[in-house]
Amino acid sequence: MELADIDQSARSGNVARLFDETAAHHGDEQAMEHHGERTTHAELREWTAEFAGGLHDLGVAPGDRMLLFMPNSPAFLVASLGAFRAGVVISPVNPQYKRREVAYQLEDTQAKAIVTHPSLRPVVDQATDDAGMDPAVMTVESKYMDRDLEDTFFEDVRGEPTLVEREDDDVALLPYTSGTTGDPKGVRLTHRNTRAQLSWTLSASNDSIEPDEVRSLIWLPLYHITGFTHTALQPLAGGGTCYFRSALEWDAEDCLQLIEDEGITHFVGVTTMYADMVAADTFGEYDLTSLESASEGGAKLSTAVQERFEETAGVDISEGYGLTETHGATHTQSGSTFGLHHGTIGQPLRMTDCKIVDENGDEVPPGEEGELLVRGPQVMDGYHDLPAATDEAFTELGYFRTGDVARRDGNNYYEIVDRKKHVIVTAGYNVYPSELENLLLEHDAITDAAVVGIPDERRNEVPKAFVVPAADVEAGTDITADDIQEYCLDRVAGYKHPREVEFVDDLPRTTSGKIQKFKLEDDV
Ligand code: AMP
Repeated sequence: MELADIDQSARSGNVARLFDETAAHHGDEQAMEHHGERTTHAELREWTAEFAGGLHDLGVAPGDRMLLFMPNSPAFLVASLGAFRAGVVISPVNPQYKRREVAYQLEDTQAKAIVTHPSLRPVVDQATDDAGMDPAVMTVESKYMDRDLEDTFFEDVRGEPTLVEREDDDVALLPYTSGTTGDPKGVRLTHRNTRAQLSWTLSASNDSIEPDEVRSLIWLPLYHITGFTHTALQPLAGGGTCYFRSALEWDAEDCLQLIEDEGITHFVGVTTMYADMVAADTFGEYDLTSLESASEGGAKLSTAVQERFEETAGVDISEGYGLTETHGATHTQSGSTFGLHHGTIGQPLRMTDCKIVDENGDEVPPGEEGELLVRGPQVMDGYHDLPAATDEAFTELGYFRTGDVARRDGNNYYEIVDRKKHVIVTAGYNVYPSELENLLLEHDAITDAAVVGIPDERRNEVPKAFVVPAADVEAGTDITADDIQEYCLDRVAGYKHPREVEFVDDLPRTTSGKIQKFKLEDDV
């Protein structure tokens, strides 16, 4: 389907209309596959319309927030597209989260509903207790989540098929990220943002296959914007098919086998996934030639991994770049005028306007480093309920400050060289040091703490905690590094826990009291 084929009514308002258009063009074609269960675009549309009606019957109104707390599955997409139709704002939650993390997002969003999986129900119950809230909880029990369950897919949340009108500026998605500093914040992504990102993809003409022939393997987590936008919504909007695997069950050999067996054409992974694939003993034994597009984002791709993958698989990896605040991509190599330039993130998407600026906000010439600023229809409307943080995130001319340091060459290819902001990207997952520091400071035996990223061969970076024990506490005896790791593992998602802990007498600080993290980073 070309952009020109999209009905006028799908060009504004509720983004769900875009998927109605897809169902109109590709109704009989396959939309989803999950462990052998297949669904057409027409069925997907019917389920999402009924789910939207079910939300309405439950009293979840347009503009209300709904937490989506479940692993990758067709149900995740039915609930998402259903919520779009109902005008209900989706706030996706990492299924690895523990009660305090879920309670935080529940309180911050004031969600009226939570969609979850039975295995996560105890965490939901704890979090709703902690938050003192009573949202409608929908637990999906379905063969589309678990192979051996009966088909009870959202049986209790079915109503008269519905599509609620929305304005372009109404919020559609509220994913959480910390931005450049501080606690996790809700990112207000509007129906316009979603449509802009998907329209760009639909109209991208560099692919050698038609959008409805795309077979996308979803292995990135769907709660995160890259997985949601680029492995799910994008292929679905074009009439393609999604194959689901849970990010929690990552296995490089299974992935390679699935690409071969299903003739996967579209794969997006993080560096760690590609590193695991090339490290597999059997790597050279799979036929990966069905892949039309293998992309990477989230962190810089290692050249060694890239070369090994490309040599053996015979498929180029295209690195891209984007953020939660930009609904996914702002740059890709694959759509760029002069093809792939390894080591870069390619050129900005057609609709994206970029600048690289120095400390004074003045644009720097090609070859020089500075902060990357972006402006475009996919860039968020702001942070949820945080006008001051929103103001800080944008320049006067409306450019979003990415917090990443970049440079560009004479052909307008960009390269990410550093990060100004405090975020640790570990195997594609973001860890916000301040969140972990706050948790450590709640421990009775700790008076001060700082978390930095240290290099790690497989995960790129991992968190390391510098901990100042309380005056009457003997480090190594009264409290050990293992105790601290366990304390964190009990309270936050596993990938966030500090893989190294070092006890120190004090932390280096500026005269204004700010921790000098660069000194700690230099010491590791
Ligand atoms: P998120 O909001 O979780 O998508 O994280 C966005 C951040 O991931 C960016 O601001 C960058 O710091 C980092 N990132 C994304 N893509 C790349 C890339 N290709 N190279 C280096 N860093 C990247």
